[in-house]
Amino acid sequence: MAPGAWVNYSIEARTLRQARANRRNARMRAARLLGTHTAEEWAEILDRHNHACAICGIPASELIGGRLTKDHITAISLGGSDAATNLRPLCRECNTAAYQASQR
Ligand SMILES: [Zn+2]
Repeated sequence: MAPGAWVNYSIEARTLRQARANRRNARMRAARLLGTHTAEEWAEILDRHNHACAICGIPASELIGGRLTKDHITAISLGGSDAATNLRPLCRECNTAAYQASQR
């Protein structure tokens, strides 16, 4: 490897990371234009699901960290909004599985 190659590599990696973050932020901005939700609305959604994962039903109290993640039913990357009607609580495992399914 030529001297300085590592430096160039790490700058590229940082630029790529930044570009991905920018795209994610731009998508979130677009999603919020379609709809937003308040902390109270999210609390209501959690209550409606009895503070359990909407897919596997594991209660939040049994999760590491004790928290369910916010899942966008229609993925943000597919034009879903950030409105309360597009949210459901999922455990991390179900959220990851749902995300992977949406990418197929
Ligand atoms: Zn789950």
